[in-house]
Amino acid sequence: MNRLVEPITHLRGVGEETAVLLHDMGIYSINDLIEYFPYRYDDNSLKDLEEVKHDERVTVEGVIHSEPILTYFGKKRSRLTFRLLVGRYLLSVVCFNRPYFKSKLILNSTITVTGKWDKNRQTITAQEVNFGPKKEASGIEPVYSVKGKLTVKGMRKFISIAMKEYFEEIDEMLPSELLQKYKLMTRKVAIQTMHAPIEQANLKQARRRFVYEEFLLFQLKMQALRKVQREQSKGLTQKYSQDDLNLFIKALPFPLTSAQSRVIDEILNDMKSPYRMNRLLQGDVGSGKTVVAAISIYATILSGYQGALMVPTEILAEQHAESLYKLFEPFKINIALLTSSVKGKKRKELLERLKNNDIQLLIGTHALIQDEIHFHKLGLVITDEQHRFGVEQRRMLREKGANTDVLFMTATPIPRTLAITAFGEMDVSVIDELPAGRKSIETYWVKPDMLDRILTFIEKEIAKGRQAYVICPLIEESEKLDVQNALDVHSMLTQFFQNRYKVGLMHGRLSSDEKDAVMRSFSENDVHVLVSTTVVEVGVNVPNATTMVIYDAERFGLSQLHQLRGRVGRGSEQSYCILLADPKSETGKERMKIMTETNDGFVLSERDLELRGPGDFFGKKQSGMPVFKVADMVHDYRALEVARQDAVELVRSDAFWKDEKYAGLRIQLTHSGILNGEKLD
Ligand code: ADP
Ligand code: MG
Repeated sequence: MNRLVEPITHLRGVGEETAVLLHDMGIYSINDLIEYFPYRYDDNSLKDLEEVKHDERVTVEGVIHSEPILTYFGKKRSRLTFRLLVGRYLLSVVCFNRPYFKSKLILNSTITVTGKWDKNRQTITAQEVNFGPKKEASGIEPVYSVKGKLTVKGMRKFISIAMKEYFEEIDEMLPSELLQKYKLMTRKVAIQTMHAPIEQANLKQARRRFVYEEFLLFQLKMQALRKVQREQSKGLTQKYSQDDLNLFIKALPFPLTSAQSRVIDEILNDMKSPYRMNRLLQGDVGSGKTVVAAISIYATILSGYQGALMVPTEILAEQHAESLYKLFEPFKINIALLTSSVKGKKRKELLERLKNNDIQLLIGTHALIQDEIHFHKLGLVITDEQHRFGVEQRRMLREKGANTDVLFMTATPIPRTLAITAFGEMDVSVIDELPAGRKSIETYWVKPDMLDRILTFIEKEIAKGRQAYVICPLIEESEKLDVQNALDVHSMLTQFFQNRYKVGLMHGRLSSDEKDAVMRSFSENDVHVLVSTTVVEVGVNVPNATTMVIYDAERFGLSQLHQLRGRVGRGSEQSYCILLADPKSETGKERMKIMTETNDGFVLSERDLELRGPGDFFGKKQSGMPVFKVADMVHDYRALEVARQDAVELVRSDAFWKDEKYAGLRIQLTHSGILNGEKLD
């Protein structure tokens, strides 16, 4: 048994009390302790003062050149000054409130001083003084984040004791071929280096090793999970007549783009295979995911199964229902819409029909995976715009139908690094082409004081027969403020347009009947301008709307702005997106600028990730993102790609599951429960 699993109380100097403090920081075993890496380092190595910038921290070794002078001001406060000869520099050193140093500072003796360098005054304000020459190996000092009563010094001590006593216990988990291939430090050396680096270059190498290790382990888990899911949960082998499916495809009002055809093939192959489909479909707004969903659903229906389509909001459910009714009408398919407004007897009736296979396609919000809902033979579940789902919810959804195929669709282009991390256990299809003839949306960023001109612009567009959206930001903390905001903008616009044009209002507090009525009058062009909160963010389709104004645009992330913007540019007319924003920060300005420069969702998503970081990308609530100790998905994306590829190959190979040299990696998978048929934590 490896001694690293021993509890930290086994460590000299760690009693029950300290153990509790360490537990608080997630440190239970010796192993946890030695893998508790510094969050930064102080560089105390000697440097030429010539190279040190004003106000920077510096460590120097020098000879005391003048008798120290002690000055008191007040009873407790004091200042000690002396001259120090460092190489050919003669500089001043100041120590505050340490009068007892005076007797130790002996003329002509050598000392080491660390402190802030005032270049103008040629003075160091000392933070630390060592009475003697600089000690070896104390160049770069680790700084640990600590909680409660623990100190950085204490952590250093515990870790250094642990490293001395347990060093030999540290095992390599990577096979030597990988160590050699990427010229990685061994685990022993890398851990040692993380805690006590000799120079920056070593530190970089140690970090590089852990970045790879973390990514590889994570990707191995994902790939193993994928393999286990494939092998353990048998899928349905869906059989249908390709000719019948082709009739449906031919009846569509347009030919498919080649990207659509490609992803449809990928999906149908999954459905026909005995494996269970677990696929993510990415496609920018307007790339035509709905027909892809429709074709897949028709395939499952032709195979004798039922389909379910889940969307995040009721409005979207209604819109999808409407367009699918149209597409399926000639094919005599029974479609039902299940929303919160379907209640009582009607609901009961609907559920009964569903159970009796009298409904072939059910559309609704995630109410669809509630317990009371039973399908007769569910063959395919599609979720639209559910990129906020984490691994956990995806698993719940998969477990709903015993072995149904599952397709996740998202219009939020997810940067590749995130896609292979957050959705690493899934197959991914991408629609990377928009239907021909789309005009790109012209985007402008203007200051709020230009509102008058914008209103005039909107009026001109409406006069041409077009419609407009005006979006007020969602204020997360307060739905009330949010609604108030929308109400204010609504009354301002109503006043502006008088009885020339009609202004509608949409927000989260409306009942679904009210929302429905508003959407209907907007899509029928009875309402010309729709003031709305971000409830229209996803999926809503009114091709005649050509202008979108977004209030306080700096408050949104790039991906969300892109989503909103996707509500226009859906018809044949030129569309416009106007960002009203007065961002104060540089990144805010940068974001507005990028929006005006590109319509490519993938480009925007990459930039969004860079500007906001992976934690914020999916929003606060459901990030579903793993936490890495050392690795950074944005900066280390190359390592991520490499590790992913290695993981795919390893899991696929027989050797990985048998050879002794992979035992170290396999054991990691056992810890995560995957190899016991349990689930990913
Ligand atoms: P999204 O991917 O954003 O869900 P939709 O499925 O709503 O996109 O499609 C956007 C619009 O493009 C719809 O009006 C749809 O009818 C149309 N569309 C989809 N595929 C094609 C195609 N191959 N050629 C022309 N128009 C298409
Ligand atoms: Mg859609």
